[in-house]
Amino acid sequence: MKIEVQHIPSQGTVLSYLKPARAFPVIKEMEEQGECLFNTPIAIELDVLRERELIRVDGVVSATVRLTCSRCLITYDHDLRHRFRLRFSRQIPTDVHSGGKDEVELTAEQIGLIFFREDTIELKDAIQEQIVLSIPYKPLCSESCKGLCPQCGADLNQGPCGCPAQRAGNPFEVLKNRQWPAS
Ligand SMILES: [Zn+2]
Ligand SMILES: [Zn+2]
Repeated sequence: MKIEVQHIPSQGTVLSYLKPARAFPVIKEMEEQGECLFNTPIAIELDVLRERELIRVDGVVSATVRLTCSRCLITYDHDLRHRFRLRFSRQIPTDVHSGGKDEVELTAEQIGLIFFREDTIELKDAIQEQIVLSIPYKPLCSESCKGLCPQCGADLNQGPCGCPAQRAGNPFEVLKNRQWPAS
């Protein structure tokens, strides 16, 4: 996934790719750790445009990914679709800076730019980062997922489990139920 900058036509260009998840080392590792499992290849659509000295990339990544609900632990399929915008700038040789006293050096990251050298933009790392960002950090099978019963472990989405309702956090609860010896 490379862009040859000098080959970008003035009206811009569209690039599309279909990549297996394992083509991205970080995602491959997430799969191996059981954090997610891609059911489909990852579709990547990129609108590439010159913007003065910068190269602007408007992208969409989409795929179907199997996740584990962080509340009830069932696996479910999630349609992943994530839009993003990236800006790439040619690396400026450091000796070009005049180095004025008050000059504040900004890193590429601070100004939201990704530097490239020579005439080639390598997209893989930036795209991988966007795919990782699009995967929910705390997956939920549904917003209203009731989770598991903390006492018996039953899936409360299937109905109540029959455990006595917990009144959490009252230390006097124990005393109230205690059988005091008759005096
Ligand atoms: Zn759930
Ligand atoms: Zn229960």
